[in-house]
Amino acid sequence: MSHNPDCLFCKIVEGKIPSKKVYEDEDVFAFHDIRPAAPIHFLMIPKKHIPMLSDMTILDEQLLGKMMLLAPKLALEAGARPGESGGFKVLLNNGADGGQEVYHVHMHVMAGPRPWKYQ
Ligand code: 5GP
Ligand code: ZN
Repeated sequence: MSHNPDCLFCKIVEGKIPSKKVYEDEDVFAFHDIRPAAPIHFLMIPKKHIPMLSDMTILDEQLLGKMMLLAPKLALEAGARPGESGGFKVLLNNGADGGQEVYHVHMHVMAGPRPWKYQ
């Protein structure tokens, strides 16, 4: 697995920095956001170091599909309410103009009753 020794989220994957784990498999790691913007807020990341969504290629198609399909399952397991009256938000910031602060691809999954800090 290709980790970047200077990357915060690589250190989280490797357990060098503690996190509250939500899910892990051979490709994906998910953990609660340290500054939640919603009652439920976790981040899902590929285990391998990829800085930005725009760095991903057709070779990552399965990985991205897996992450997108895991989002509803993990959101429900984390306490998101089911159905149209419940739900969750998936957000992926790309680059400075996209609001990205940590340069290891991460999908935000937010859920829970409103209001949220992040709309
Ligand atoms: P971005 O703005 O890059 O899309 O989101 C980065 C997210 O990472 C932010 O929501 C921030 O709260 C979260 N974050 C930053 N540092 C840490 C950390 O050390 N641990 C955890 N669990 N989350 C972090
Ligand atoms: Zn990384």
